[in-house]
Amino acid sequence: MRMAFETDAIVIGAGAVGLATGRAFALRGHETLVLEAQGAIGQGISSRNSEVIHAGLYYPTGSLKARLCVLGRQLLYAYLDKYHIAHQRCGKLVVATEPHEAARLEAIFRQAGENGVEGLQRLSGEQARALEPELNATAAILSPDSGVMDAHGYMGNMAGEISALGGAIVINTPFVGASPIPGGGFVVRTGGDAATEVTTRYLVIAAGLGAQDAAATVDTFPAAQIPRLHYGKGVYFTCAGKAPFGRLVYPLPIPGALGTHYRRDLGGQARFGPDLDFVDAPDYTVDPARADAFYDTIRRFWPGLKDGALVPDYAGIRPKLHGPGELQTDFRIDGAEAHGLAGLIALFGIESPGLTSSLAIGDEVVRRLVD
Ligand SMILES: Cc1cc2nc3c(=O)[nH]c(=O)nc-3n(C[C@H](O)[C@H](O)[C@H](O)COP(=O)(O)OP(=O)(O)OC[C@H]3O[C@@H](n4cnc5c(N)ncnc54)[C@H](O)[C@@H]3O)c2cc1C
Repeated sequence: MRMAFETDAIVIGAGAVGLATGRAFALRGHETLVLEAQGAIGQGISSRNSEVIHAGLYYPTGSLKARLCVLGRQLLYAYLDKYHIAHQRCGKLVVATEPHEAARLEAIFRQAGENGVEGLQRLSGEQARALEPELNATAAILSPDSGVMDAHGYMGNMAGEISALGGAIVINTPFVGASPIPGGGFVVRTGGDAATEVTTRYLVIAAGLGAQDAAATVDTFPAAQIPRLHYGKGVYFTCAGKAPFGRLVYPLPIPGALGTHYRRDLGGQARFGPDLDFVDAPDYTVDPARADAFYDTIRRFWPGLKDGALVPDYAGIRPKLHGPGELQTDFRIDGAEAHGLAGLIALFGIESPGLTSSLAIGDEVVRRLVD
């Protein structure tokens, strides 16, 4: 006899990825609950990032990051256009600031081509300066489809869609554990003031920095299949006055991250960051002393940055699966083949470009579980 579940799908975490997954379930007619531990949606990694729509230049061809970033970016622009959510397809310059960086720039250009990124152009330093007169560059890549977006507007819209399709976002409701039901599905336990149990056919862990802890509370989830979490902190600085560039400006990537970059946010403010610092526990303070390294990095591509101009801004934490000095890892979308639990997908290591990829990740998760 087929078990009657109280709901079809439970998604743990109302960040960009959890909401995109909840939306994908709801659009296919599945009754969906998105559980969120905090008192509002989008208070985790999704509210502490660069809000950059990545084109998908850098990631190893064939990786989930490469595939889901390119697809996710296309889906995201269509979504933001459709619902009139604030964004700008402002374009991005990846810059070499010394002649010896030319070979690395060329390698990025080739990688991006292999990843199917459209419309890229190689520019000389002079051509780049014709676009952005305050820029120092010996050569550059122009990526016309990179952009910036309003992540909160995006998440709020997805939450509205889920509700309109008959689903629910349940805030102040931490997931505290689940037990597989023989024959399929899960009993899901929640904490908070209204602690309860709900049965579901599908369960998705999209809990960002809480993904490892959430997986560890699912009965029979093999501990060896829960990757170690490393906290990759990044801080930002702002700069008073007129923003120097209209386009995003990225120097060449640093080990483990894309490196401190420039963006003009949707309000016209210049912002720089994030750097990368592995920390033992989440901590969102911005140490003003980190400005020294920011001045050095930024002046390589913007020599006009004045002394004393940088002001501490905010910090974010990447849910990294690698530690310092180790190779960067791919997203993990772990299904039964990894942990043995049919009907469950656990998402680990959804760092950048997770915001850009979110709609594609949501579709991928639901396709793997349902189709
Ligand atoms: C510094 C920085 C810069 C970045 N810049 C970009 C960028 O420019 N472009 C880009 O594409 N990506 C960027 N990213 C990556 C992007 O922000 C993330 O990949 C994306 O936001 C992850 O979304 P998420 O839904 O997986 O996680 P989150 O937004 O963290 O959502 C997870 C949610 O789960 C909840 N939760 C946790 N545990 C539980 C539990 N037990 N029960 C219930 N709820 C729980 C949390 O409260 C949280 O709301 C950046 C990341 C960082 C850190």
